[in-house]
Amino acid sequence: LNDSDVPDVLSNYVGGAFTPSEGALLDVTNPSRGDVIAHVPMSTPAEVDVAVRAASVAYETWRFTPVGTRVTHLYRLLDAIRREEEVLARLIVLEMGKSLPDARAEMKRLIQNLEVACAMPMLQQGSKLVGASADMDGEVLPMPLGVFAMFAPFNFPGMVPFWFLPYALATGNTFVMKPSEQVPCTMQAIARLIDEAGMPPGVFNLVNGDKVVSRALMEHPRVVGVSMVGSTPVARITAETCARHGKRFQALGGAKNHLVIMPDAPMDEVVRNLVTSCFGCAGQRCMAASAIVCVGERTHRELVDAFTAAARAVIVADPLDPAVENESMVCGPVISPAARERIHGLIEKGIAEGARALVDGRGVHVAGREGGNYVGPTILGDVAEGATVHRTEIFGPVAVILKADSFDEALAIVNGHEYANGASLYTRSGYYARRFKLEAEAGMIGINVGIPAPVAYMPFGGAKSSFFADVKAQGRSVVNFFTQERVVTERWWKEDE
Ligand code: NAD
Repeated sequence: LNDSDVPDVLSNYVGGAFTPSEGALLDVTNPSRGDVIAHVPMSTPAEVDVAVRAASVAYETWRFTPVGTRVTHLYRLLDAIRREEEVLARLIVLEMGKSLPDARAEMKRLIQNLEVACAMPMLQQGSKLVGASADMDGEVLPMPLGVFAMFAPFNFPGMVPFWFLPYALATGNTFVMKPSEQVPCTMQAIARLIDEAGMPPGVFNLVNGDKVVSRALMEHPRVVGVSMVGSTPVARITAETCARHGKRFQALGGAKNHLVIMPDAPMDEVVRNLVTSCFGCAGQRCMAASAIVCVGERTHRELVDAFTAAARAVIVADPLDPAVENESMVCGPVISPAARERIHGLIEKGIAEGARALVDGRGVHVAGREGGNYVGPTILGDVAEGATVHRTEIFGPVAVILKADSFDEALAIVNGHEYANGASLYTRSGYYARRFKLEAEAGMIGINVGIPAPVAYMPFGGAKSSFFADVKAQGRSVVNFFTQERVVTERWWKEDE
């Protein structure tokens, strides 16, 4: 692979062949420069149907392929992805705009998920109860279900699909994937590697497009389950549509992650973590810290001084500019001009509602990259609980600061929020750390960790309006989503002699 290998017009991958779509073409833009790097088709429901049918046919053989053979294909894919890791990381930067070190970290997590899925011969084992009743045994068989579908968000074009894809295939299901139409090039390149890994035709399928494709997947009678990651309104639509059509679903939604700072927290560590958590990936991470709650006046004063100074020092640049490409902290562009306008609008609204712009990134200028969608690090102080900029997921490099008089008041702010993806506490106190672990309502908790995104060996998912499902992504948990427990109760008589 080479990042210049991305074709001008992307295709679908259906039944083991790259297939052009008849759908209208949409520009794929490099957000750092504004130039068009490819064109992606908006596939039609009829094309979705062909892909689902191909997956459905492949399922009949794949489900009976021994699990050891199934993961052999994943091991081959793992080799190919490791070989192409740097090219894929650069492709992620090209179409999404995060820093190269961030994209490399994304690739590492993608690989880690693939490695975990390769353990399926161990993970998919069932259980047996000898003597469940008189002369009877009970057996639990974790069986595959059929065709699974997934549609992905723009901010992790490589990693997020791998929260699901390798687990679905390893457990004996087949898969139809729709990448985000804003960043479809990474999965196009990965589809080539899947093809190279010799996966039987129809086991993995790629259909490009927008919500028309998602809808057709959710409504297709042969799709048994859907995994979706994106904003909360779309997660809600996914949950409702899948429930209506009798499918299992995992819908991971938006976030507004709180980070609470206690008076005893080491301020230099806090600020170092805050800068990467709030402004890395230009704030476009579902685990980004975006609401900072300072406990006590002195904490607030010290935090504001140190954090504003650190935010002003952040490099805002095209992450593929050779002068900065290996810098660990670069704030690149946001995904589109529309996203930038939305973020500008929210900053304006915050100020109109009484917040103070301690650092204002709206006027940022990146020389030679006038076509890019840059917003500089922004910090809004004196934000009231429940103000628009506190309630809303901004999904840009904008941090809001709130004050609390005590741990309990800070905890009430965290728990009063609609979103509950992640929440972190900074303290040296085991007492408050323990209370935060047990009482903060978020799905993923950080203790002195700014981005508490779990490794692939552990489940990933939030709570409340950040998560519409029962089974989380990644790790052992997700095996339950991709299998159904068939329970056998059996009795045998002695054969006639
Ligand atoms: P989005 O909701 O706009 O799109 C996500 C996917 O849904 C895309 O593939 C899109 O084509 C499709 N889609 C859009 N509208 C749809 C509709 N009406 N019906 C069906 N499908 C539809 O999200 P985005 O802007 O691409 O991604 C950013 C969002 O994703 C943020 O809210 C972020 O917090 C969230 N996110 C959450 C997690 C998590 O783990 N909870 C992880 C990454 C991103």
